[in-house]
Amino acid sequence: MKMITEVLIIGGGATGVGIARDLSWRGIPSILIEKGDFASGASGRNHGLLHSGGRYAVTDPGAARECMAENRILRKIAPHCIEETDGLFVSLPEDGFDYRERFLRACDEVGIQTALLSRDETLELEPELDPNLLSAVKVPDGSIDPFVLILENARDAEEHGAKILLHTEMTSLILDGDKIKEVGAKDLGGGEEYTIKASYIVNATGAWANQFLKLAGLQIGMALSKGSMLITNQRLTHHVINRCRPPSDGDIVVPNHTVSILGTTSVRLEEVENFEVTPHEVSLLIQETSKLVPAIQEARLIRAYAGIRPLFQSETKEDDRAISRGFVLIDHGERDGIKNLITITGGKLVTYRLMAEKTSDLLCKKMGMHTPCSTHLKALPKANRPTGLTEKLKQFSFERVETLCDCELTSRKEVEEFLKTDKLKDLQDILHRTRLAKGSCQGGFCVYRLLGVLHDLRRINGNSNEFLKKFLEERWKGIRPILWGPAVKEEELMEGIYKGIFNL
Ligand SMILES: Cc1cc2nc3c(=O)[nH]c(=O)nc-3n(C[C@H](O)[C@H](O)[C@H](O)COP(=O)(O)OP(=O)(O)OC[C@H]3O[C@@H](n4cnc5c(N)ncnc54)[C@H](O)[C@@H]3O)c2cc1C
Repeated sequence: MKMITEVLIIGGGATGVGIARDLSWRGIPSILIEKGDFASGASGRNHGLLHSGGRYAVTDPGAARECMAENRILRKIAPHCIEETDGLFVSLPEDGFDYRERFLRACDEVGIQTALLSRDETLELEPELDPNLLSAVKVPDGSIDPFVLILENARDAEEHGAKILLHTEMTSLILDGDKIKEVGAKDLGGGEEYTIKASYIVNATGAWANQFLKLAGLQIGMALSKGSMLITNQRLTHHVINRCRPPSDGDIVVPNHTVSILGTTSVRLEEVENFEVTPHEVSLLIQETSKLVPAIQEARLIRAYAGIRPLFQSETKEDDRAISRGFVLIDHGERDGIKNLITITGGKLVTYRLMAEKTSDLLCKKMGMHTPCSTHLKALPKANRPTGLTEKLKQFSFERVETLCDCELTSRKEVEEFLKTDKLKDLQDILHRTRLAKGSCQGGFCVYRLLGVLHDLRRINGNSNEFLKKFLEERWKGIRPILWGPAVKEEELMEGIYKGIFNL
């Protein structure tokens, strides 16, 4: 199939969908293609921390300022994606006070509001913290749901004219002099091939940026840094907990819905595919985060996962944590003589909107347009509707609701509503949109119920065991690194169910 548009965006992470939304509000047509579902890259594989900028205040004040400014904007335009948890930077006896003083000064300089709390005040807020702590600094961190944020940006972009093709991979490009003439793409589900002509092409592929650029014979200086994270089966703290020391391994605990996320590590990788969480990283994360929250030693883990940070570097640095977390916007017309290509990479989830704004500004400049950005003013579609666990609980207490996922209270009705509006290409598509299978049993008891519903509704053609196998393989990747104690027992039960009942 042949398609023509003004701007072709490659990559459906936060940055790509943010650009599609920004352009759509400026009246500029675009097509976005994403090889997986939304958020299959780093956007769905992070801590979900709504940075105040505190984490970078001392080492990277530019990135810290961007985080603080965008944190304020996101609270206004996307309140339903955010939990207002605040964050604590906790000093332990071995950290002393030197870093805390630098931290307080740096936050003041970049405009991050702080409050210094005594040991007793801190423990009153967070009784699970190490009782030997010295003090804590409170900052406006929060917790953000990347999936809801991205889906809402995408929905809004589509409502304003953008076209989005999921499970569609960009596979080739044809250069004609100083321009990309057309891009080749393939629907990974149905096999259909597309030829897309666009006046401008945006490479928003994050860690895959150099894979894209290789097709045009280009390359940028980029380090790939893997960060691994663990999920506990309970929410351990109310606040985001950071260690008040220079950023290091295992110094952050983020509450997220019903669970807590422990992070992270920083391991240099050579390639962007085929990475895993190692046993060493699991031990390191438990060892370090339990210094902040001792209960982590005994906590049950339900999943391990990792994401890749694309860190732009103009010069080689040994320590990946010394590379800026700011973003980079490259006009390949100026840099390499390819006039209709732009790369945007690096940055943070919390700065996705700003990255989209700067990219769209550059596109407008190239087009000779002067339409200003409005995404900092326009709330996302469901911004004023109450969401979250409390709302779900209310629904369950007032209506007779058939539950599919007991851990996350996902109802059959919610799944059926998704199926009415969206095309099902992969089981994971439903899981991303409803939180089904994100709780303690990681889908062990609910995914086969979901398949029953899909059968009833005739939404599965052929053998549903193939869907199930694919799901279980994905699930296994996250569970294998944390298999000990009660998790082993639960896996044996799962094995019994899936091998015994479903003959897998
Ligand atoms: C371990 C870790 C923890 C983090 N924690 C936080 C945090 O707590 N808070 C925060 O604000 N930020 C955090 N970040 C940073 C944040 O996750 C990223 O900056 C952000 O998600 C990047 O979004 P993106 O859209 O640029 O890239 P991605 O989300 O990686 O999106 C790129 C997309 O391009 C697609 N793609 C690639 N090649 C092709 C192709 N050929 N055709 C079609 N599609 C293609 C990929 O499938 C992918 O979906 C963290 C990052 C990591 C790795």
